Formats: sequence, structure tokens, C-alpha cells
Amino acid sequence: MKDLSGWGRYPRLSGPLGAAFDTDAAAEATARLPGLVARGFGRAYGDAAVGRDNTLDATALDRMLAFDPETGILTAEAGVSLADIISVFLPRGFFPRAVPGTRFVSVGGMIASDVHGKNQHVDGTFGDHVEWLMLALPDERVVRCSRDENADLFAATIGGMGLTGTILSAAFRLKRVETGWIRQTTRVAGNLSEAVRLLNRTDTASYTVAWIDVLARGPSLGRSLILEGEHATPEQVESDALFPTPRTGRIGVPTDMPGWMLNAWSVRAFNEVYYRTGARKADCVTIVPWDSFFFPLDGVAHWNRIYGRRGFVQHQCVIPPAKAEAVLAEVLDRISEKGVGSFLAVLKRLAPASGLMSFPMEGLTLALDMPFSEKLLPLLSEIDALVVEAGGRMYLAKDATQSAETFAAGYPHLDRFRRLRGDLGVTGRMASKLSERLGL
Ligand SMILES: Cc1cc2nc3c(=O)[nH]c(=O)nc-3n(C[C@H](O)[C@H](O)[C@H](O)COP(=O)(O)OP(=O)(O)OC[C@H]3O[C@@H](n4cnc5c(N)ncnc54)[C@H](O)[C@@H]3O)c2cc1C
Repeated sequence: MKDLSGWGRYPRLSGPLGAAFDTDAAAEATARLPGLVARGFGRAYGDAAVGRDNTLDATALDRMLAFDPETGILTAEAGVSLADIISVFLPRGFFPRAVPGTRFVSVGGMIASDVHGKNQHVDGTFGDHVEWLMLALPDERVVRCSRDENADLFAATIGGMGLTGTILSAAFRLKRVETGWIRQTTRVAGNLSEAVRLLNRTDTASYTVAWIDVLARGPSLGRSLILEGEHATPEQVESDALFPTPRTGRIGVPTDMPGWMLNAWSVRAFNEVYYRTGARKADCVTIVPWDSFFFPLDGVAHWNRIYGRRGFVQHQCVIPPAKAEAVLAEVLDRISEKGVGSFLAVLKRLAPASGLMSFPMEGLTLALDMPFSEKLLPLLSEIDALVVEAGGRMYLAKDATQSAETFAAGYPHLDRFRRLRGDLGVTGRMASKLSERLGL
């Protein structure tokens, strides 16, 4: 039995973990083992990457198979990491078209969660750039899926949380970049309305993300620092290294921090310092290396341990534009009132995505890390209810707590997804702790 908890380490889960050393073995395991899902680097926060009965470690499927520099299409096995893709292709002038906030994720995990980056409102999700994928099914078939071949299965697999089969390999597009530096502009929003206005600007940069001080209240509720970014041109870079290597010698959190260290006081102090330091850079432009812009948390190994042994929950919701500001204000108000604020609270703009179960929709998404405690659960269900009432939904790759009801209310293609799973004969065969909890 292995510890199979997600990145949030709540809920604590363990179970049998098998490893596949090549794509044939992964296909064979998918056909043989019931109640299975594949697992990448376990960066989903909750229970998505834990099989109901069996979990298949797919990280040894780590070969890059082909690359066409004309089209930027890379073909890779599902366990290849984003970190490896960037370290091989950035020095050649290519960068992935969508990246999440950590590079320690796999190709299979990025497709199954249909991950979004800071540019999703402009460039779409990772799944939008997948040309085709090979999927192993429990009936021993291995099928190629694309927008033209097995199109329904393709749409269900992108964002399908591993519940349609095991992704063995995929071909996806990278984009050309001239440098590995980002031209970053910091904007300051004194409250939520300003933050929403800045994020919704039509002339917005390619990459945008707002960090919110969750504990600010009254007229400062929702005060934020907004980071905008563009890939820098060689002329804008002062360093000799056009493609800097990522920071090495990462600092780390060696052990679980005691729970008392993270309380409303320490979070408030951290937020105050962070906001004030950032506010001094209002409208300043800096040229920063790619890793600190896209993956700031990757600089601290095991940072999830700061939340202590009980772990934490990341709650991420998206709310359609018409109600976004009002609902976000209500959510922030309730969180601030309960004093369960987090170091990490980010707001981003999203656009619709193409997977049947993809998370993004037109609107604003708020992600909040909160230390786990029993008293958090009623607060999260209140927030979930507000979100779905406003026509929004919660992100499955972050989810550990929502009910089957709020899930069903948020995902309009759920019936189609269920039918497709039934027709394929994968219901119950491809199954995770998340699918069991949500009645999938
Ligand atoms: C610090 C941090 C920041 C993040 N930022 C973002 C962000 O900005 N945007 C965003 O969208 N996400 C974000 N995430 C979430 C993360 O990108 C996703 O959870 C991603 O799926 C993790 O990839 P993984 O390889 O670790 O997959 P796992 O966590 O191991 O698995 C995630 C899901 O993918 C499925 N899966 C994995 N491999 C396969 C396969 N070969 N075949 C079929 N299914 C498979 C699993 O069954 C599971 O359902 C972040 C996570 C962290 C920890």
C-alpha cells in the first residue's frame, strides 16, 4: 500500500500502486485491473489521481517520440514531464502553449485535467493544442483519438480526469519564442472592482494573473497585485543568456510545519508585506526569467508541508461574468470573516474550453489555499452553493470536498459524459476516489 494523497494531502489516501514501464504494459494493466485510473506526478490536489481499487503510475512512460520544428508539434508519451519538455525545447526556441502553475506535471495529467495557464483567455487550454492522443481502454483496444477520429472520445478524454481510459501518448503543439524571459508589468488594484476591471480589459496582455489579499476587508476587500506578462524579445533582454536555466539548489520545507504557525495573524502579516512590496512596483516593467514568472512555487520543494500534517484544500471555482464580482465579494467576505485566509489566492480570467468536462468557461476563476480543519467543510459547501447558483463550477483537479449535487449542477455535459462512458463499457472499470465521491 502506498500513500496516494494528492498535493493538498487531504484526504489522506493510500492503496495499491502499479507501475507501467512502457505503453504495452500500461495498456495491459488498463485491461486487467478494475477500478483503475492512471496517475502522473500527483499534483492534483484532492482525490482525482487515486484509483477506486487500483492506481497506475504512468510516469515511466517518459519518452519523447518525435518533433517537427516546422509545425512545433511534439509527440510524447504520457508520463513525460512539463519540466523536461521545457528544458529540452526552450533552448531551441519553443515553449508550451498552455502551462499550469507548476512544471512538475505530466502530459497525461495536463490532458486529463485540461489545464489552463495565465493565457487561457487568449490561447486556450492545453487540450486545445492537442492534435491526437492514443488511449488504452479496458476492453484491450488502443484507439487513436483526435478532432476527426473518435471525436466524441477525444472530447471526453480532454478534461475527463482519466475516466475514459489511460492516455499512452499524445501529439501537441508548442509555440515559437525568441527568449526565455518575460516582460512583466505589475498593476495595483485597491479593491475587487478595480481588479475585475483590470482583468477584463480588452487590451490585456497575453498572460495575466491577480494575487488577492484574502484577508483585506471593508473598502480594501479584494485588493490585488496584477501581473501581466509577454515573452520578451532579444532586444529587451539585458542578460547574455537568452534562454536562462531554471533556478537550481531549490530551498525546501524539510518537514511538516506545526499547525499553529499558520494562523490568521501570520497570513495577514504575510499578505500585508507582499501587497505593500508589490504596490511599490506599480506600473513598473521588469524582465524576469520564465521559471519565476510561470512557476514561482516550484522554487520551494515540498511547500505543501507548510500547512502541517492535516494538509490543506485548494478551492477553485469559476463564475460567469455577469455575477462574478458580486459572488467573489461574497466569497471573500465570508472567508475573511472566518479568518481562514490563505497565502495563495489567485484570480484569473477564463474563456470557454472544448473538452466535455473541461473546467474553464467565460468568467473569472478564484483559487484559494486553505488549511484543512473540520470547520472548513461547512464554509466550503456554502461557497459551492453560491458558485453553482451563479452558473459557475468547481475545478475537479483541485477538488476534494464538493458534493455530487454541486458537481452535477456545474457540468452541463455530464449526462453525455456518463452515456459515453456507459457505451464504451468503462463505467466502474475506470474509476477514481473522485469519481466515486461525485457519483460518476
Ligand atoms: C502548485 C500547483 C499549481 C497548479 N496550477 C494550475 C494551473 O494554473 N492551472 C491548472 O489547470 N492546473 C493547475 N494545477 C493542477 C495540475 O496542473 C493538474 O492537477 C495536473 O493534472 C497535474 O498533473 P499530474 O501529472 O501531477 O497528474 P495527477 O495529479 O497525477 O493526475 C491528475 C488527473 O489526471 C489523470 N491522469 C494522469 N495521467 C494520466 C494518463 N496517463 N492517462 C489518463 N489520465 C491520467 C489522473 O487520473 C487524474 O484524474 C496546479 C497544481 C499545483 C500543485
